[in-house]
Amino acid sequence: MKKYRNLADYFEYRGRRFAERCTNCGACLEVCPVYPLTGLAGKDPRVVMEKITGLLKGGEVSAEAYEMVFSCNGGCDICSKACPEKLNLYSAFTSAIARIAGSGKQPPPQVYQVMPKNRYNFQRVFSALQSKPSERRWLSRAPANPRPAEIVLFAGCQATGMMHTFLETMGILDKMGVGYVALGGDELCCGTAAMLWGDLNAAQAMGEELVSNIAAFKPKKAVHFCTGCHVMCWAMLPRFMDVPFESGEVAQFLVDNLGRIPIQKRMDKLVTVHDACSVARLGSYENPRRLLQAIPGIRLVEMKHNRADSLCCGGATNTWRADISEPLRRVPLQEAEATGAQVLATTCTGCQKSFAPLERDYGFEVRSYISILAEAVGVSQEDNFKRFVGGMTVDEVLTDARRCIEASGYTADEMGPVLAEYFDRFCPGHGRRLGSM
Ligand code: SF4
Ligand code: SF4
Repeated sequence: MKKYRNLADYFEYRGRRFAERCTNCGACLEVCPVYPLTGLAGKDPRVVMEKITGLLKGGEVSAEAYEMVFSCNGGCDICSKACPEKLNLYSAFTSAIARIAGSGKQPPPQVYQVMPKNRYNFQRVFSALQSKPSERRWLSRAPANPRPAEIVLFAGCQATGMMHTFLETMGILDKMGVGYVALGGDELCCGTAAMLWGDLNAAQAMGEELVSNIAAFKPKKAVHFCTGCHVMCWAMLPRFMDVPFESGEVAQFLVDNLGRIPIQKRMDKLVTVHDACSVARLGSYENPRRLLQAIPGIRLVEMKHNRADSLCCGGATNTWRADISEPLRRVPLQEAEATGAQVLATTCTGCQKSFAPLERDYGFEVRSYISILAEAVGVSQEDNFKRFVGGMTVDEVLTDARRCIEASGYTADEMGPVLAEYFDRFCPGHGRRLGSM
């Protein structure tokens, strides 16, 4: 017998428990790095917390609660560490967002640009800019009665937009001689994205669809490229449904099989690691470091804030609050610069996406730890995402990607405005200002 009936039931419980225990002291928002960047700056945090707990108790949707829960970066968790009651604000805010959605009030319109199955979802757009369908070496769904596979490698939605890292992961597994089936693309979603706009029923349906597609291969283990998908399959969905396979993250899988990784190349580089909030929440921040340290010549240097104290990449907020995201992103980048490192190794696709457009303002490369490992193994792929966001104009990208766009069923006319909006929002100092549209 499961404790919760479904995802909505779980977050209802978490929200109610939070509201019962929270004293509205405001200590959490006093340390929140996002709070002073919102329209709430200067307001008494105790008043804002009263509005949020009021909403969780069934009260009205106030402007203050709406602004705060939709501005939260979704997990830096600095607030929870300051809370005398040891409360988790992230799950309470998810519960509050579900209440807002349930009241009929719409989330910020930009939220829908991360919605899976949306034709102009940014992940789907960047996948179409970088590859023809025939070049995508993964299944978008499980076929009927597939041959069993011991391991299913699941990309999650982000990795197909940041395609080179997923291809590099597959290249590393191929070199290791691991047998696996790869699933990816935004046809399948773990459901986390739907939680961002409060549709917990949709999130649950997506999670169930993912579990049944993975389970179709009767795997022993699902290896998730994205820690968000891992948390969904490992910690969230099993609260109310049976998940008939183990779930793990790719970094852990690689560490567990370190002896099988055929590292061929020495790389004399000073590298600093940015710990993603999703990785820090799992406490698995040593895995990327162990993989990097296995490469001859790599030396690690730590940023001032690292591991459980790492700073937000601005990624989640980036989706709909560019005004908040850019100042957030620059703080860890400045810390990375202060280390003197030649490379900032990211540990999450979302962080890589956040930092890559700003790389040219700093004196180091921004690369996923997977890309660094892939180079050492000899399976590097070109980082087209960074090439596009690192200074090309909209017209240059459309020309460069014309064949992939057409093969993916889009036209340059419909892609142009989506790309221009992406550049405007995510790539400060870039985009149409550089001569396009
Ligand atoms: S998770 Fe981070 S951004 Fe969100 S409320 Fe807590 S401290 Fe602020
Ligand atoms: S610090 Fe904890 S108890 Fe105080 S307002 Fe924030 S969540 Fe509530």
